[in-house]
Amino acid sequence: MRAALGPAFFTKLAAIVSAQHVKIDDAVRVAYGADALKRGRQPDAVVLPANTEEVAAVVRLCGRHRIPIVPRGAGTGYTGGAVPTHGGVVISLERLNRILEIDEANLVAVVEPHVVTGALQAAVEKVGLFYPPDPASLNESVIGGNVAECAGGPRAFKYGTTKQYVLGLEVVLPTGEVVRTGGKVVKNVVGYDLTHLFVGSEGTLGIITRIILRLVPRPPVQATLRATFRDVEAAVQAVINIIRARVVPAAVELIDGDSLEAVAQYLQVRSLAPGGTGAMLLLEVDGVPPAVAEEATRVESACAEAGATEVLRAGDEAERQELWRVRRELSRSLKMIAPLKYNHDVVVPKGRIPSLFALVHRLREEYRLRIPCFGHAGDGNIHVNIMVDPNDAAEIARAHEAERALFEGVVALEGSISGEHGIGFAKAPFVPLELTAETIALMKRLKRAFDPDDILNPGKIFP
Ligand SMILES: Cc1cc2nc3c(=O)[nH]c(=O)nc-3n(C[C@H](O)[C@H](O)[C@H](O)COP(=O)(O)OP(=O)(O)OC[C@H]3O[C@@H](n4cnc5c(N)ncnc54)[C@H](O)[C@@H]3O)c2cc1C
Repeated sequence: MRAALGPAFFTKLAAIVSAQHVKIDDAVRVAYGADALKRGRQPDAVVLPANTEEVAAVVRLCGRHRIPIVPRGAGTGYTGGAVPTHGGVVISLERLNRILEIDEANLVAVVEPHVVTGALQAAVEKVGLFYPPDPASLNESVIGGNVAECAGGPRAFKYGTTKQYVLGLEVVLPTGEVVRTGGKVVKNVVGYDLTHLFVGSEGTLGIITRIILRLVPRPPVQATLRATFRDVEAAVQAVINIIRARVVPAAVELIDGDSLEAVAQYLQVRSLAPGGTGAMLLLEVDGVPPAVAEEATRVESACAEAGATEVLRAGDEAERQELWRVRRELSRSLKMIAPLKYNHDVVVPKGRIPSLFALVHRLREEYRLRIPCFGHAGDGNIHVNIMVDPNDAAEIARAHEAERALFEGVVALEGSISGEHGIGFAKAPFVPLELTAETIALMKRLKRAFDPDDILNPGKIFP
């Protein structure tokens, strides 16, 4: 433990947040020393402030002692963002968990960072409004973490990702100053757009303590469809046909054959698709009833023209939920293939999804690995899951080689190494594959302007 992090320092922390909200016992440090990536270092202390003033006071104290600070939401991140790389203090925002306002007239919600995404959605839907960003983790992840990662989900193709919904923020800077950006208005061009600099900044520029979110009217009805295909090429052709038919579905999820088998095993059902299925699309259109009926018909024709082996439409809400359950359980079900997954949320221009699958096929053969894939076909954002046995060092080494080859291939396809999970420390070594030295240098200058002593979430994003 670094010298400053002794009993005297903990007493000072306790003077800010009270002793019960400073945790230094081993069990807590272990719990906050990991996120969904399941790697990282434990913090020396976990602090649970109650409000913005306490967050700012903790930040100033840590700053005076040059102690690293790591902001944390629900800890569902896949890249180690909420996990220390240098020990120090984790600031968990879990006591800032209130929906402060749902302003129906202005179509905005004002929330503290630790509101669970799904709970916000349910609250606004009760009054006929809609908060579209829907990461599959929505029943656990919180809005602060979603904003810091710019989370996306199936609805991104039609509705956009978290950044399209953030209108304003309150942020504690690494210096302990508190700034407010944006506001309840949709139009605002005064000064730099700091709001969107914080969105996706992975807790490296400031700690978000309040968020103003844009809402939209809740679409009154949806139609959910499932289409199966012999291979990924046919499924991608269906997506292209759908766009040509001038339909922008609320969701276009692609699931490959290996992932389907895993989820069938996990849900203990014999099969989820006709024999010989190499790819499945889960599609949803939403809006007012006549438009939904028309769009669902166009989607069915587009899939049939691409050679779908079967197209089913959910008959009621229970059937719709059942179709979505398959998608939501995908991530967890991959443990049926192997206990550990390296989950990569790469993106390519959507017409190049077949080239991405060809690349993955080559990696499977060359590195002798199991690599199920699924994801958001409308955005070209495909989750490539390299499955490994944690006790097989040789397999892990092959997986790391495959990882680099995957990222190189994705960049060559004019794609990106991360569409939604961010960089954290897990992907930091690969950033130079995508960003030039000049771009990285500019980002580092920005980081220094916000955080001259590099105390906020050090070791993240930059190689
Ligand atoms: C089963 C599963 C499915 C998932 N599906 C998706 C998906 O579909 N789409 C998607 O985008 N992601 C997905 N994820 C990844 C993850 O849920 C998202 O990245 C989510 O936004 C993280 O939220 P969190 O509250 O858990 O944040 P954390 O993991 O706690 O933190 C994430 C990052 O945000 C920073 N941070 C947290 N709170 C603040 C704050 N108040 N101020 C400043 N920085 C902060 C942290 O320092 C860290 O860098 C999934 C994860 C799991 C486990």
